[in-house]
Amino acid sequence: MIKLFFAQALLPTGWAEDVAVEVAPDGTIARIEAGAVPAPEASRAAIAVPGMANVHSHAFQRGMAGLAERAGPAEDSFWTWREVMYGFLDRLTPDDVESIAGQLYAEMLEAGFTAVGEFHYLHNDSDGSPYADPAELAERIVAAATTTGMALTHLPVLYHQGSFGAAPSTPGQRRFVMDVEAVVRLIETLRARHPDLVVGAAPHSLRAVTPESLRTLVEACESGPLHIHAAEQEKEVADCLAWSGRRPVRWLLDEVGLGERWCLIHCTHLDGGEVRDLAASGAVAGLCPVTEANLGDGIFRGVDYLGQSGRFGVGSDSHIRIDLADELRSLEYSQRLRDRRRNRLAAPGHSVGLTLFDKARAGGAQALAQNMGAIEAGRRADIVTLDPDHPALVGRQGDALLDGWLFAARRAPVDSVRVGGRLVVEGGRHVAGEAVARRFARTMQALLADA
Ligand SMILES: [Zn+2]
Repeated sequence: MIKLFFAQALLPTGWAEDVAVEVAPDGTIARIEAGAVPAPEASRAAIAVPGMANVHSHAFQRGMAGLAERAGPAEDSFWTWREVMYGFLDRLTPDDVESIAGQLYAEMLEAGFTAVGEFHYLHNDSDGSPYADPAELAERIVAAATTTGMALTHLPVLYHQGSFGAAPSTPGQRRFVMDVEAVVRLIETLRARHPDLVVGAAPHSLRAVTPESLRTLVEACESGPLHIHAAEQEKEVADCLAWSGRRPVRWLLDEVGLGERWCLIHCTHLDGGEVRDLAASGAVAGLCPVTEANLGDGIFRGVDYLGQSGRFGVGSDSHIRIDLADELRSLEYSQRLRDRRRNRLAAPGHSVGLTLFDKARAGGAQALAQNMGAIEAGRRADIVTLDPDHPALVGRQGDALLDGWLFAARRAPVDSVRVGGRLVVEGGRHVAGEAVARRFARTMQALLADA
């Protein structure tokens, strides 16, 4: 039994003082008591909050972060960024994928993320043929998560076609394209090989699947989360309207019956009816505010959506930055810039930091189907401790700690991180961070020397 003791801890009921936590050998919280006296052998810390889910990741993209920031000859957009991305992934070997994912997951853990939803669409070898083991690259993601101690929700992607209306895939997409039967086999393989792994499914987007292949995938995948990119780009909304007469989120609401298993990634461009019905559906909006800003996607209708009790989680998607505070602050700031007002996403009298953290932890745990997101008995012991002497936290209590972290900290005040009770970050650094970083450096030097 691991014994922990926190001077302050954020529990589902709010902040509590002198909190004793006991972690069972299976990594779940066995017992929790506020107003307790510390056991002599307890590992003590000043401030504890639950670990956060990172709901949307394409791990390999961490290797190209910052490589698409040079202005091109024409107007740059999501679509020109995508060409840079296609050029980069052409060169990746399975070893490269594992190395980059390992570095990424170590950085995420240091940022306070304890689980990741890997929206895994890199399936094939660089010539487009399947590997001898079709799960080769999916297994590299599992290996990176195991090495770093990251909890993983694996989401093999169905990428069926180039665009709406059965448009053929382009050469840049040959590493993604896999028919629906093969994706179902991949899901079954991962479940058989890794019984404890959470495995869901991810139809890539309405433009990359057909209604038939989408239905086949959903019917074959009876349990586990379902994630899909939706309404990230105005062009995608226009193309979907031209194809079906309906906007993407409206199409999904009408045709697949959105509910708690679903996480719709981005949801940037919604009309009022979509905001209302998505919020009422119980599905989670998987927001990626830093990537959405980097790619020039647009601004999510956060005030309307949260005002109707819509659920959300956050993800770092393209991994241009790995920082929980950046994601939540960018979400709030996008609303402030649009509305020219302050404190947009909290109810009157409430802390913006606490509101954002609290909704993202609950929505994120739901979206990844992980038993996490709260420090309470029966949950996995995913616990993040914060440095009380950090300049943005010093002298503060309760909600002001989260406001200080999310809005004012120059670097994350994360001190230690446990996933299922196991210590993976100590003193702000991942316990295997040096070896992981050395491997990543070798990978990147070779990849960029070839470029
Ligand atoms: Zn994405």
